[in-house]
Amino acid sequence: MASDAPARPDDGPSDPGGASATSAPALDVRGLEKRFGTTVAVDGVDLEVPRGSLTALLGPSGCGKTTVLRMVAGLADPDAGTITIDGTLVSGPGVAVPPEKRNVGLVFQDYALFPHLTVARNVAYGLAGRPRAERERRTADALTLVGLEGVEDRYPTALSGGQQQRVALARAIVTRPDLVLLDEPFSNLDATLRAAVREEVRTILRDADQTAVFVTHDQEEALSLADRVAVMEAGRVHQFAHPQTLYTAPATRFVAEFVGEADVLAGTRAGTYLVDTPIGRLPTVRPISQRHVAVVIRPESVRLRADPQAPAVVSGISYFGHDQLTQVALPAGEVVRARRGPQLDLERGRPVRIEVDGPVHTFDVTDPGADTDPSADG
Ligand code: ATP
Repeated sequence: MASDAPARPDDGPSDPGGASATSAPALDVRGLEKRFGTTVAVDGVDLEVPRGSLTALLGPSGCGKTTVLRMVAGLADPDAGTITIDGTLVSGPGVAVPPEKRNVGLVFQDYALFPHLTVARNVAYGLAGRPRAERERRTADALTLVGLEGVEDRYPTALSGGQQQRVALARAIVTRPDLVLLDEPFSNLDATLRAAVREEVRTILRDADQTAVFVTHDQEEALSLADRVAVMEAGRVHQFAHPQTLYTAPATRFVAEFVGEADVLAGTRAGTYLVDTPIGRLPTVRPISQRHVAVVIRPESVRLRADPQAPAVVSGISYFGHDQLTQVALPAGEVVRARRGPQLDLERGRPVRIEVDGPVHTFDVTDPGADTDPSADG
């Protein structure tokens, strides 16, 4: 576990939040904790979200991501830690600003639209108490931003899932909140629609220069949508980084396996940057100090060559058209997958030689969540 992970995200190749790094972050979470009975739902989470950025909280079911979001929104009370939104402490010792005073917009999984209100009135809901002309102008602006002009007078039930999502988004941003929080915002959409709506939502949030944090268990969603991803497990953040950093420099074995595809083989140290594995001696990204390590193999880095003398055989093929995932069984039973082009040139049972491109990531096996190399990023 990268327990000394910085509260600030790692620098990535493009850094939309970096330009405003000197101003207060849109969201600053320190030492956040939450227990439900004996369950530790959130266990010391630090998070610093730059303004104008999109952050994903990514992790398996039950890792605590929704609880973090709910505490930031003010819908749940932390047991410890502080939450600061746009420079204002909203939660901490003796401080508990109610949700409606936090200047936060919320988009729920089921959108939570009012079925008896028209689209325009749903969006205008958060503007209650403001002059009518302002309400109308801001509602119209928000509906334009989400591309819903023309359906103002419809009711939510007369809209597609994607349109309802956009209404929910318009309602969340119409008040110009410091932060928009989205809880599994795409999970109610079918797979085809999801990719399109995801792109739309990203464009809308960008156009509005809106800081947003969303929760997802879908790594593809997190990697494709967010500038920064906080990978969570068991109530803790393993790594908070740009998607590319998570993928190319995972701080822990959990991140390496959870983000992207990976097979893990047992390895033995053969040199400072060399490891012996069941598929041969491989160069490593980081120096190895332990004798036994876990070696992470990415399917796209694996090359297969038919070789009648090879002890490994093709044991399965998942064919996707644009590419395929070819499973190879090693003599001792381990499986390594290779992501290969569309040509079905290696059938099941064919002996193959395995080669791996580039250096591999290794992790200490005595503590599978940890990397013993102090120079490793985190
Ligand atoms: P999912 O993707 O399934 O929603 P999650 O990562 O968002 O999962 P949380 O919903 O934050 O996880 O839950 C974290 C842990 O806290 C889980 O073990 C969950 O069962 C527990 N938990 C969450 N809310 C409550 C509650 N109100 N009462 C009791 N336990 C809860």
